[in-house]
Formats: sequence, C-alpha cells, structure tokens
Amino acid sequence: MNFQLFVLKQVTEESEEVRTFKFTKKDGSVPVYKPGHFFLLRLPGEDGKPQQRSYSVASHPDEDALAFCIKLKGSFTHMLWKLKSGDTVEIDGPYGIFLLNPSDTERIFVGGGVGISALRSMIIQTVKYDNKRAWLFHSARQFDGLTYFPEMKKLAAENPHFKFNSCVTGEEKPAGWNGYCERISVPLLKQVLGTLSDKTFYLCGSKEMCGGLATALQASGVPKEHIKKDEWG
Ligand SMILES: Cc1cc2nc3c(=O)[nH]c(=O)nc-3n(C[C@H](O)[C@H](O)[C@H](O)COP(=O)(O)OP(=O)(O)OC[C@H]3O[C@@H](n4cnc5c(N)ncnc54)[C@H](O)[C@@H]3O)c2cc1C
Repeated sequence: MNFQLFVLKQVTEESEEVRTFKFTKKDGSVPVYKPGHFFLLRLPGEDGKPQQRSYSVASHPDEDALAFCIKLKGSFTHMLWKLKSGDTVEIDGPYGIFLLNPSDTERIFVGGGVGISALRSMIIQTVKYDNKRAWLFHSARQFDGLTYFPEMKKLAAENPHFKFNSCVTGEEKPAGWNGYCERISVPLLKQVLGTLSDKTFYLCGSKEMCGGLATALQASGVPKEHIKKDEWG
C-alpha cells in the first residue's frame, strides 16, 4: 500500500445524506487513474488507530480534482462529514477491475443511489471521449437520491447518443414527476432498449440490485462477459 496525503479542496452537499468530496495532492496534482477505479481513504479513528474504506472515483481523469460521491452511513463516513476544506486525508490507489471495455458497441449504465459515483466517470468517458452510444438508468428511493440528476439531464440534452432514464421507487415523488416509478428490471430494460444481448451492462450499487439484475440479464440471453458489476453495501 502506498498512502499519500491529499488535501480536501471542496465539499458539495448533494442531498441530506450524500456529499461529493474533492481532493488534490499537496502540489495540486491528481494521480493517474481510469473511470471505474476505486481508491482507499484512510483517517485516524477516535482511538487513534487508522481506519480505511474504499470509494469509487466519481471524477473523470481529465478533471482537476479527485472526486468521491459518498453516502453518510457509519463510523468512517461520520468522520468524513466532520472534515473541512484544507484538511488532509491519506489516499491510496487506484485499484479495481470495474473498467470500460474499449470494444463495447453500446454501453448501458445501471446505478442504484450512490452507485452513480463510478458511473459518472465512465459516462463522461463514453459520451465525451469514446463517442459511443450510452444509456443511464438511475434509481433511488427518493428524488434527492438521484445524485447528479441535473448534470446527467444536461449531458443527455447536449449529446443525442446519450439517453438518461431515472426511477423513483419510494412513495414520495416530486410534483410533475414523469420518470419511472418502478425498480430497474429486465422487462423495463427490454421495453426501453429492445434487444439486450448485443449491449454491455455496467451495474453499480447494492449487492441486491446488481446481483439480481445480473442474474436476470444472463437468463434473458445477455452473455456473462457483457455484464460488469461493482457491488457494495
Ligand atoms: C470497491 C468499493 C467502492 C465503494 N464506493 C463507494 C462510493 O463511491 N460511495 C459510497 O458511499 N460508498 C462506497 N463504498 C462503500 C464504502 O467503502 C463504505 O463501506 C461505506 O462508506 C460505509 O462506511 P462507514 O464506515 O460509514 O459504515 P460502517 O460503520 O462500516 O457501516 C457499514 C455497514 O453498517 C450498516 N450501517 C451502518 N450505519 C448505517 C446507516 N445509517 N444506514 C444504513 N446502514 C448502516 C450497513 O449495513 C453497512 O453495511 C464502496 C465500497 C467498495 C468495496
């Protein structure tokens, strides 16, 4: 492991429970990484012993800071919530194999809640740099869990080869909501996309969502090698 000191440059409150944290190295640089990679963040715990957790990188490698989209949960995230701009955090990475395959013809990104973190970086790569057709299906219980909704809407409006569908699965919908109200499923994907077997799926979110959807996609004829998962929590 090779932890290095990074400086917290900016914290953005995306919703009550989700924040984007942006870091650079002390000299203002960012490490080399690919969309889909994750990093280890390390902080001293209350007992002084270091604690670490993994976080997918939400920024694109061409951006000027390393960004993580993080949901408040337990001990580590409560420590992160106390940090202010200028504070330092030890970061190690990049790691991981949840990476884009350059030979994909069409990419389908499916995210549950804060699972949008890794997908944001991959979507920017696909839409702005690889110029491939892509769809994002993002679901959350409540509208405010659809982190990066305005950015994804704008990206879809500016790039005809990128389409964005969102699903709010809980009881409360924003006034005038015209997105989906159901969980992302194979029937929903088929209804929107038609044939699935020629597309590559990138799933990111809870084990329940990614595992269930991967099994159902395979059962519907999508080859296993066309389904990539980054499941946590
Ligand atoms: C490769 C990888 C990438 C990841 N990327 C991200 C990412 O981009 N963003 C992100 O937010 N997380 C990500 N995670 C999860 C992250 O590593 C931590 O597990 C998460 O932030 C929780 O850490 P914690 O110390 O705050 O919670 P912990 O104290 O470790 O508690 C976590 C567990 O306790 C339970 N729990 C505790 N408090 C609550 C609560 N209030 N509500 C619900 N359940 C609770 C949950 O069951 C959960 O499994 C990733 C994990 C992996 C392995």
